[in-house]
Amino acid sequence: VTTRSSPIGIDFDNTIVDYDRVFAPTAVEMGFLPSDFVGGKIAVRRALRTASNGEERWMRVQGRVYGPRMFEARLFDGVRAFLIRARERERPVFVISHKTERGHFDETGTDLRVAALAWMDDQGLFRTDETGIDRSRVFFEPDRTGKLRRVAELGCAILVDDLPEVLEDPAFPVGVERCLFAPAGAEPRSGMRIHASWRELADALLG
Ligand SMILES: [Mg+2]
Repeated sequence: VTTRSSPIGIDFDNTIVDYDRVFAPTAVEMGFLPSDFVGGKIAVRRALRTASNGEERWMRVQGRVYGPRMFEARLFDGVRAFLIRARERERPVFVISHKTERGHFDETGTDLRVAALAWMDDQGLFRTDETGIDRSRVFFEPDRTGKLRRVAELGCAILVDDLPEVLEDPAFPVGVERCLFAPAGAEPRSGMRIHASWRELADALLG
């Protein structure tokens, strides 16, 4: 049952963190795309996957973007305001991320979790008296199953995530509301609400 104080779970990569301008330069630098390539995450993924080893290349690019190049990523507009309003409304927020310690094929060996926490700190997200969150509100899980288990364990009323496949996973906990964050827009899908911005999310979830 959703109450005023039910926790809100939010995903990390591509939900809080906007890597859109990091993917293309990284893929170009790795020699996977022509230097004149223009496009965000979805365009890069689509372009890479046309090659026979495209899936591996996509994983390699992600390993670098979510690790050594994390600091080029920006905070999505409105996240900070959302957290501040959630704190005012006394709605606990947890960040729940499917994130391994090391990136696939990342030869720099960057610890992705350490990079993520450092980035959040850098963005001022751990100014607890403003945002209401600190490191203890951030959970990294090694796989999607662990992530969904954590959502249930924390008693989240809702999960905000950019991946429909997470929200539609058969193991998605019963009774938790599904909320798709789709900054580029999305076709309506049954069983989930869809929001294109954090401002919209704040109005819809926090009033
Ligand atoms: Mg994500």
